[in-house]
Amino acid sequence: MIPYGRQDINQADIDAVVDVLKSDWLTQGPVVPRFEQAVASLVGARYAIASNSATSSLHLACLALGVGSGDYVWTSPVSFVASANCARYCGASVAFVDVDIDTGNMSIDALAAMLAKAEQDGTLPKVVIPVHLAGQSCDMEAIGALANRYGFSVIEDASHAIGGRYKDQPIGNCRFSDIVIFSFHPVKVVTSGEGGMAVTNNERLAERMALLRSHGITRDTDAMKNKPDGPWYYEQIELGYNYRMTELQAALGCSQMDRLAGFVSRRHEIARVYEDRLSGLPLSFLRQQPWSYSAYHLFVIMLDLERTRKSRLEVFEQLRSGGIGVNLHYIPIYRQPDFQRFGQLAEHFPNAEAYYARAISIPMYAGLTAERQEEVISVIRGVLP
Ligand SMILES: *Cc1c(COP(=O)(O)O)cnc(C)c1O
Repeated sequence: MIPYGRQDINQADIDAVVDVLKSDWLTQGPVVPRFEQAVASLVGARYAIASNSATSSLHLACLALGVGSGDYVWTSPVSFVASANCARYCGASVAFVDVDIDTGNMSIDALAAMLAKAEQDGTLPKVVIPVHLAGQSCDMEAIGALANRYGFSVIEDASHAIGGRYKDQPIGNCRFSDIVIFSFHPVKVVTSGEGGMAVTNNERLAERMALLRSHGITRDTDAMKNKPDGPWYYEQIELGYNYRMTELQAALGCSQMDRLAGFVSRRHEIARVYEDRLSGLPLSFLRQQPWSYSAYHLFVIMLDLERTRKSRLEVFEQLRSGGIGVNLHYIPIYRQPDFQRFGQLAEHFPNAEAYYARAISIPMYAGLTAERQEEVISVIRGVLP
């Protein structure tokens, strides 16, 4: 089976991890800040806080922005559940904003309409979390303008998007947002095994995320309530978590960061070949905005169900039995039984529903060879004549 995505680990990656195993530090030592620095400087953000997953980083970001019970957090339904769960960990309510049918990203029109209504109802969100689906940025300038007008904070879920660009600037520089989150899960563009990172230009948010990452414990005497009674002294000043990243993860992450540009340009080559060789079939691609340089975490085809005589299920099963490890990103989150408590029904989301009815993710990863990509293309052409 040719998978839809997979990690690419070379000898330098292995050596970096082995070096850490022979060192004095296995968890959060000198390599974690080196990884943080590498990401911050690549994306052009001032501060970076690593954690054990993007899910943890999303939680830290919501906490740092003061999300709590009684608050509303809005995100995209076409995402992994983590984009919404972070709000629920803080006791907040979640609402979803419909997507743009051509890109699968949060629709600016739908967001503006929901905000106008929420202003009247007194239910404006504290935080909005746009998700850069498949690695293409949402229209952050438009979202930033709405954030200024309505007074909400913005966390970009850029789990798919490290190495991508928006309007000629790297995704992650927080130009139109408060915090940007990256994931280093093995299937993402670069990996640390498991891992996440929050970047921000706001020193106070950075300090809070660093504090809450490690139990809310500080050794900074200025931040303490009491006077230290000895050199062993530390204080827990609020309730935090153990969300620390290990040195092993950071070493792999650092080594992978050196390869990021190559990974993303290879993903672009693969995308060009798919667009060329699959055009004319009853399918379309996610539209790439003129200002976007995607990181291409995923490559999604959208079936033209009027032109195929097969259902999406048949196409999916035939691709799988042809040895192509296709997948579906994503089941709209409001469809999950555990999200039905928020009372948003499928009929509120015509575009997310249309997307869900048609989308299939086909293999996209830097290590996909030209020969294997040809195999994928010929199976697709056979299934969708
Ligand atoms: C993968 C992913 C996450 C969660 O990442 P982890 O590092 O696995 O916690 C969050 N949001 C989106 C959109 C993702 O794809």
